[in-house]
Amino acid sequence: MKLEKEILSKLCEEVPFEGGLNEECVYHLALDEWGVEKQLNKLVEECAELIVAVSKKINGLEGANIAEEIADVRIVMEQIIIALDLGDEIYKHKNEKLLRLYKKLTKENK
Ligand SMILES: [Mg+2]
Repeated sequence: MKLEKEILSKLCEEVPFEGGLNEECVYHLALDEWGVEKQLNKLVEECAELIVAVSKKINGLEGANIAEEIADVRIVMEQIIIALDLGDEIYKHKNEKLLRLYKKLTKENK
């Protein structure tokens, strides 16, 4: 095991987050192991699984585990946010979109 990986692994366990592993450490560990290209492909795969789960739910089919698939998407998505340094940009877009949604939902826009 490389020294960096060894240190990161210990940090994941020693600096717990909400009683579990330190999420950010695990994301860095995954990125070090597989790299951003593989994780981008993983994100596509997990998004597809979420689409299937949501479609099953809509159509009343069994085996729609939306919560599990959302968890998978979130885990890989967080890795991509770190790898591509998208945090600030996402924050900006999210605020703009939330404001637009709010205006759409209130009398301000009716
Ligand atoms: Mg999945």
